[in-house]
Amino acid sequence: MKFFLKKWFDNSQSQVELLADSDDIDWARIIPFIAIHLACLLVFVVGVSWVAVFVCLLSYFIRMFAITAFYHRYFSHKSFKTSRLVQGVFAVIGATATQRGPIWWAAHHRHHHIHADDEQDTHSPKDGFWHSHLKWFLMKKNFTTKSEYVKDLEKFSELRFIDRFDILFPILYATGLFILGGYLGKHYPHLNTSAGQLLIWGYFISTVLLSHVTYCINSLAHIFGFRTYETKDNSKNNFVLAIFTLGEGWHNNHHCNPGSVKQGFTWWQLDVSYYILWLMNKLGLVWDMKYPNHALLEKKQISGDA
Ligand SMILES: [Zn+2]
Ligand SMILES: [Zn+2]
Repeated sequence: MKFFLKKWFDNSQSQVELLADSDDIDWARIIPFIAIHLACLLVFVVGVSWVAVFVCLLSYFIRMFAITAFYHRYFSHKSFKTSRLVQGVFAVIGATATQRGPIWWAAHHRHHHIHADDEQDTHSPKDGFWHSHLKWFLMKKNFTTKSEYVKDLEKFSELRFIDRFDILFPILYATGLFILGGYLGKHYPHLNTSAGQLLIWGYFISTVLLSHVTYCINSLAHIFGFRTYETKDNSKNNFVLAIFTLGEGWHNNHHCNPGSVKQGFTWWQLDVSYYILWLMNKLGLVWDMKYPNHALLEKKQISGDA
């Protein structure tokens, strides 16, 4: 039991039971995952207010940006450069999304690009929708970090710390929302909110929405949509997913040119994460943005709409 609990808080503990080839589900990990979903039902206890819905959406938006712009486009693909401070800030915000730390996330994602939809792909829908959506990261063998892909990120002690104690960040974030809700409830009673309400809406509901929309890129974005470019995988461009993921739905574009900071390649291909990165670039917070390789795109194009 002691080991069971310690494992939740310190990922290095899991190295003790390295079951690299096990397809087994890691039950010690699945319990908090299920609990986060069940906690959303407490909405019937805490109720709803405009403030709670606003905090839920804002919490979704900020953390989705941290995942798409930083965990994905920066940590995984190095599509722009930034300072160590900004890197650290977005590593922490991304960790509150409860999708593990940036090193683990980037390692699995880099592996995905090398093996997309082949037999080694960790989360291909060829192995079933639910496997690609969420089963893959609940398996013991995928709990460990594929270190060989992320030597560049492992150099940073603060990123190693976030990866090792990743559960700490959602706990601190949820606690902060609880305290904020309590403060607003006490000092601004007309807002009709409470500690429990901001905890449930701001953390639990927001996190469940954010998680499943992110998982859809691994599942639905390899199943539904249209293809503009010839790639060796089944990646698709999908407008609906692009809206909810702030631009990640242009997944066929992305698999064709993974190093590009932009994923929407035409004016109508909404890419909110890129628009924010563009603004951050103007403010000097990020730089050396890598743009689409037009020669490559022209060569790979399979339809006339790009
Ligand atoms: Zn993909
Ligand atoms: Zn990618």
